Amino acid sequence: MTAVSPVLDPEATIGILGGGQLGRMLVLAAARLGFKCHVFAPNPDSPAFDVVHRVTCADYTDTEALDRFASDVDVVTYEFENVPAETAAFLAARVPVLPDPAILATTQDRLVEKNFVAGLGIPTAAFADIPSPGKLKAAIEHIGRPAVLKTRRFGYDGKGQVAIKNGTDPDAAWREAGGQPCILEAFVPFEREVSVVAARGHAGGVECFDVTENEHRDHILKTSRVPAALSERDAAQARRIAEIIAQKFGYVGVLAVEMFLLREGELLVNEIAPRVHNSGHWTLDGASVSQFEQHIRAVAGWPLAKPLRHGRVEMINLIGREVEDYRRYLNVPGTAVHLYGKTAVRPGRKMGHVTRVIGE
Ligand code: AMP
Repeated sequence: MTAVSPVLDPEATIGILGGGQLGRMLVLAAARLGFKCHVFAPNPDSPAFDVVHRVTCADYTDTEALDRFASDVDVVTYEFENVPAETAAFLAARVPVLPDPAILATTQDRLVEKNFVAGLGIPTAAFADIPSPGKLKAAIEHIGRPAVLKTRRFGYDGKGQVAIKNGTDPDAAWREAGGQPCILEAFVPFEREVSVVAARGHAGGVECFDVTENEHRDHILKTSRVPAALSERDAAQARRIAEIIAQKFGYVGVLAVEMFLLREGELLVNEIAPRVHNSGHWTLDGASVSQFEQHIRAVAGWPLAKPLRHGRVEMINLIGREVEDYRRYLNVPGTAVHLYGKTAVRPGRKMGHVTRVIGE
């Protein structure tokens, strides 16, 4: 089913797996183009449920609910990368799923992902497979300290990561990472962190948004700025890397590639997100087309837009209780406030964001 990608008319229904803020913003973008959306998510508090035409609140393993969902939609896409492989396969047997769920097998596992990127001749941090604590000691000898131990699966926003510094006991680090298969990565003394949000359409063309510079706080994205402060040559190389990855996957939709920029201008790929991405939120107000619309266009079989940027743009995440300050942004010229409608405020939870177009 996945090979056949229909061109959807505006009254078609797009199915979205996952009901977080990314799903919510996809729904809003789809609605602007006349589509209806049906969101499937297990959590009754899903932010996307507030704005969508139809919802299914069920577990990803509920095959009856998945079957009904599949028969109600014209295409399925997803807003998060940890969709269980069986769920994606079940749906793909009934309705086109884009991007192809086979891609999830690569991006859900840091080791497979790193091998994939390295196999394309694209540089990454030095890394080693750590299936057991015994292997960790040898790998630390080889890669050196500082290094970062990361769980192979289910890591995001720094979760499942343990720093290996001078004096860190490998056995303790292994336990802290949950005693599960990991990779060890050399710590990268990067100059900047950048990302490229790219879209690939049915016809195989790729459109990249401008390279974005990202600042993290406590491992969580805090601020994105665009254009990133890097040379035109490095920016072109960053876009080229994203394009190679999108083409190799035969991707349809939006993906993000996070990279480390070294002082000498070398770019190392850190991570691929097979979905719209927080570092692309600036496109909502800072570009002629948003990453969300671009994704909807791609999965609907529509031509991609050529994104034009409106100036220098900054995006600030409102994390945890910072959301209580949203009012202070409301009257700032060039500023737009986005709130995700989440009721429970928790430390580290992304509650909203602010975009600012700063001028040329
Ligand atoms: P990740 O979950 O892999 O995206 O990591 C979250 C953040 O941790 C990154 O955006 C970096 O700021 C930091 N980080 C991850 N891996 C490394 C590394 N090998 N060297 C230096 N910093 C890293």
